[in-house]
Amino acid sequence: MKCDVLVVGAGLAGLTVAERIANDMKLKVIVVDKRDHIGGNVYDFYNNDGILIHKYGPHIFHTNDSEVYEYLSRFTEWRQFEHFVLSSVDGKLVPMPVTLDTVNAIYGTDMNEEEMKAFLEKEAVSFDEIKTSEQVALSKVGPLLYEKLFKNYTKKQWGIDASELDTSVISRIPVRFNHDTRYFADTYQGMPLYGYTKMCEKMVESKNIKLLLKTDYKEIASEIQHRALVYTGRTDEFFHNFYGKLPYRSLDFIFETHDMEKFQEAPCVNYPNDNEYTRITEFKWMTGQTCYKTATCKLIPGDDGQALYPFPTAEYQAQFANYRKLMAKEKNTYFVGRLAEYKYYNMDKVVKRGLEVFEDMKKDYEELSTYERVHSLSEEEL
Ligand code: FAD
Ligand code: UDP
Repeated sequence: MKCDVLVVGAGLAGLTVAERIANDMKLKVIVVDKRDHIGGNVYDFYNNDGILIHKYGPHIFHTNDSEVYEYLSRFTEWRQFEHFVLSSVDGKLVPMPVTLDTVNAIYGTDMNEEEMKAFLEKEAVSFDEIKTSEQVALSKVGPLLYEKLFKNYTKKQWGIDASELDTSVISRIPVRFNHDTRYFADTYQGMPLYGYTKMCEKMVESKNIKLLLKTDYKEIASEIQHRALVYTGRTDEFFHNFYGKLPYRSLDFIFETHDMEKFQEAPCVNYPNDNEYTRITEFKWMTGQTCYKTATCKLIPGDDGQALYPFPTAEYQAQFANYRKLMAKEKNTYFVGRLAEYKYYNMDKVVKRGLEVFEDMKKDYEELSTYERVHSLSEEEL
């Protein structure tokens, strides 16, 4: 088989690059994925009870990047949805992230914005330099809220202490001195109106794209002739673990259907201190589906299983830096996405990286001589 560009991985990273190459440059693309579906971790489907669920855990789209939002809007309409989360603490459900309502609920107070600011200033621990996620939380909310809301959740989620995680992890969660209890404050937020899988199907509609599912790159690498490779799988696997296996955190997904219209008081309830799971998400809140039954998903973190979260620790980022040197030496190969770049990216960032990589590829292609360009086009129809 022959193509101009071989894309490994049909997640949002791979599909973004494939779509652009096929539709903008009109080159022939083959996308391979070892799974039996497209979409990577955003794949959703209707379960046996007809409820739309997310196979790899709940995904909510949010971004401040208008380019990414407009790009994805070519493939989907959106359902307006602003996510909110409650955290189960001391037998109460309190809003997460930390807001005025959270502080008042936990301390049994009736503070206003100014009083909350003054209160947290007194609670907060000061550091010369903030280097860890633990320090991020302590410097913003102080020890008590850290213990109740962050410490054990983080330990459960990552299997290591927040003091070992870099600042990026807990920095994802804001502290607000007002009543804005939304989980995200981004300009654009919502859910693809007909689901992520439908959106992804639209991205690969071009006749220039051929999809090969249930196909592992390792097994077909030598069988597909290509001029350029876009790789979105694990980088350690690509280099046969030359610098050792990179660790990932995984999750078990426990899906349950309940004979009731509504299961819980919010789309997501976090359990920082109890249970082996970190959160329960109820899909109907997000999708707006109306039906009698409802479906939920519990997330149970662990080390075994599929690679879902790259580790934001200094040690593993240093290990990955070695791989970066190898990546830079690979000719005509572009590494992109959460696995390949070993980065805790959200969906919007992955799409952004896909668009950036496409621009790099286009530039590289335009720099080829006319002869090389003509001969880089595939001769066969896919
Ligand atoms: P992936 O989606 O992992 O796709 C990579 C693909 O490559 C996979 O399909 C894999 O099968 C394939 N592949 C790997 N190796 C090979 C090989 N050798 N041969 C063939 N195929 C291969 N982001 C948000 O913005 N909002 C959220 O609410 C959100 N929630 C999340 C919840 C969970 C539980 C998780 C784990 C992530 C969440 N994310 C969320 C992040 C989001 O899932 C990722 O940013 C995005 O899906 C990553 O896309 P990707 O293409 O880089 O990787
Ligand atoms: N976090 C926490 N308590 C919570 C929610 C989040 O301690 O109730 C911390 C935890 O370390 C988590 C990080 O904040 O890994 C980022 O949370 P986010 O909701 O962004 O995690 P994701 O959805 O990516 O799993």
